[in-house]
Amino acid sequence: NILNFSLADFFYNDNPDVLSPPDDFSEWINNPVVKHSFSFFEQELLDAPRVSTEILSNLDGKRRKIINLTSYNYLGLSTHPEVVQAAKEALEKYGLGSSGAPLLSGTLDIHTEFARKLAEFKQKEDCILYSSGFGGNVGAIQGMMRKGDYLVMDEKCHRSLVDGGTLSGAKMLFFAHNDMESLQMMLEKAKGKRTLVVVEGVYSMDGDLAKMPEICDLAEQYGAGIFIDEAHSTLMFGENGRGVAEHFGVEDRVGVSFGTLSKSFGGVGGFICANKDLIRYLKGYSSPWNFSCAPSPAVSGGLIKALEVATRDSSLRDKMWENTRYMKKNLLDMNLDLGGTESQVIPIIIGNSGEKLMSYAEKMQKAGLFLQPVDFPAVPAHSRRFRMSVSSQLTQEEMDTTLSIIEDVIVKDMKS
Ligand code: PMP
Repeated sequence: NILNFSLADFFYNDNPDVLSPPDDFSEWINNPVVKHSFSFFEQELLDAPRVSTEILSNLDGKRRKIINLTSYNYLGLSTHPEVVQAAKEALEKYGLGSSGAPLLSGTLDIHTEFARKLAEFKQKEDCILYSSGFGGNVGAIQGMMRKGDYLVMDEKCHRSLVDGGTLSGAKMLFFAHNDMESLQMMLEKAKGKRTLVVVEGVYSMDGDLAKMPEICDLAEQYGAGIFIDEAHSTLMFGENGRGVAEHFGVEDRVGVSFGTLSKSFGGVGGFICANKDLIRYLKGYSSPWNFSCAPSPAVSGGLIKALEVATRDSSLRDKMWENTRYMKKNLLDMNLDLGGTESQVIPIIIGNSGEKLMSYAEKMQKAGLFLQPVDFPAVPAHSRRFRMSVSSQLTQEEMDTTLSIIEDVIVKDMKS
């Protein structure tokens, strides 16, 4: 039964079969627990991904105003007036789609301009743009690695990195999360082979940071390359917002830097920054790039402006950090388990009861707070959680309402 894995405490990356389709498909489709969960997860918001929005509940059919703390719109750039205006202008000039694969007719000057600006920002020689972040990770790993090579990945790496590894045919070794002894053991196993160490700047479900200085030391000792996924850290960390590699002062030691355009940038897409030769190589061998249509020029136009707005001063980022500190302090004062978060991604760990998780989610939504539950297999079964994404847009009133709903629904129940 897909809902009751006896190995439920295994993290899914150790056991990729967990995400394979169930053998008995009709049992799964008709399972009442699956149906109920989907009615929750498939809910739609009625407005842009703002903090204050409205939802039409699938559960009771009611329309209510909610505070949305599940959105990735960390800096509010998705709806920033200058970003929206720039996207409109690009839409007028180029139309909706680029109507071609990048090596056929899909590459427009607006894509080249954006890729050049991203490379300059990340201080790398060159950049390749993908239409999705997921596709960027799959495509970069699949393009760079092949049978006989070794990928040494943190066990908490995102599914896109794991899928890229599977597609590449390279041997995948997972090391215990942020554990340098375990990383060294895996590097020993890969000794003498072409090896890439893969980590995330900010881990997407836990909000903690990769131990970059130690990871760089070990990778260099074994002659391995380093790939960092800065999906949740670009525009958030480092003095100039270049990410966790900048935060730790190791940018020159990290060969391949991935970022997504769907989170702090407020758009959609992904990119890899690296040296010119590697980017050229990816343009030859990365299938999700060269066999897929180039990004929408309207989105690229908005994203050029988003990069400009986010980097011309640090006010949005400063506000996001101020809000993060406030939320974290108050949640810790309620004795909630926030794991080891060091970022704007704040898990509220509930434990191993899937029923409790869903019932808290429904109660919070009815009270006006939209916090999506994160269940197994996205996280280990013993640490089901809510994952809060703090945004620069949150007002004091929204933060205080959020905290009081969490206290009423989660903290009071846990105490009782
Ligand atoms: N990497 C990480 C660490 C992520 O969290 C995500 C998205 N959740 C991705 C890659 C994929 O990015 P996108 O959603 O932009 O496709």
